[in-house]
Amino acid sequence: MSTATDYAVESSEFTASYKPSDITGNYKGTMVVICIDPRVNSFVNSVLPYTVVARNAGGLSKSAVRDIVVSQEIGVRDVAVIHHTDCGMTHFSSESLRQKIKQDNPDDSVVAKLVDEMDFDHIEDLEVSVKSDVKYLKEHALVKKETKITGWIYDIKTGKITRVD
Ligand SMILES: [Zn+2]
Repeated sequence: MSTATDYAVESSEFTASYKPSDITGNYKGTMVVICIDPRVNSFVNSVLPYTVVARNAGGLSKSAVRDIVVSQEIGVRDVAVIHHTDCGMTHFSSESLRQKIKQDNPDDSVVAKLVDEMDFDHIEDLEVSVKSDVKYLKEHALVKKETKITGWIYDIKTGKITRVD
């Protein structure tokens, strides 16, 4: 059994030199939807310090709609969907995840029912997935028509980001 991380201890060095973020003059109403993978943390922290960031497994639009709708109320009018190379969501399917979770919870009908109802949204092809997610947001009734939606792929190995839509 693992023990919980003591974040108070882990952050003591951080808090010693901490200065609150001042977004005055830097906030441009931009938002990115990007994966939860910790390998993209340095990109998010270095390149996007004044950007609203919505993170979910894969950086998928469908899971970020609620965040986008809320963010529009603080002026977001530019949303970038960013998927990344070697994403975990390209390595397994919804069905393989369901089977794994059921195997980890044998004879648990509640777990089996919940995972059967959950769509994990496997990514087959990064570029196709990004373009599909951009289209999804452009057509979504709750995303303002004036919001600029773009699609990008972030390369984990090089740190380069390429626009694909
Ligand atoms: Zn990922």
